[in-house]
Amino acid sequence: MRFVCDRMLGRLCRWLRMMGVDAIYPQEVPDAELLGTASSEGRMLLSRDRALVDGAGDLGFYIEALDLDGQVLEFMGRFGAPGDWFTRCTACNGPLSGDEPAGCSGAVPEGIEHRHAEIWSCRSCGQRYWPGTQYASILKRLEGLRVGGCYGEVACDGPR
Ligand SMILES: [Zn+2]
Repeated sequence: MRFVCDRMLGRLCRWLRMMGVDAIYPQEVPDAELLGTASSEGRMLLSRDRALVDGAGDLGFYIEALDLDGQVLEFMGRFGAPGDWFTRCTACNGPLSGDEPAGCSGAVPEGIEHRHAEIWSCRSCGQRYWPGTQYASILKRLEGLRVGGCYGEVACDGPR
């Protein structure tokens, strides 16, 4: 399932990408036109604008919470827990692929490729990712949002 978020939900959108969900928030498109994007691209519209969601019918889902944790929980309550964490670029929504660390010289801070066996890169924009301290805190936060144990089967060992 694919999603388009309104501009109020940019942070949620990036976190959905971190969880492997195909999600965009087109900043150049007025919110009123997001429904068009949703239907033309086959995406579900996530919005904090009640009127926009009502107008979207089956394609719309209203996000009520203002805080990120609450928004993620609302999302999972409706669509279930995403299963393929760290498979998408948080910057552009592109798919990540594994790289040989040796191929990353110059693209990541010095020393990173020696400390981390696994470095991923975005196939769309080239952004590099590796399991650093931020990765650990993200995992911890996502696991803290576990709903009824449904995260129990999630593989957290990176993109495939
Ligand atoms: Zn990217």
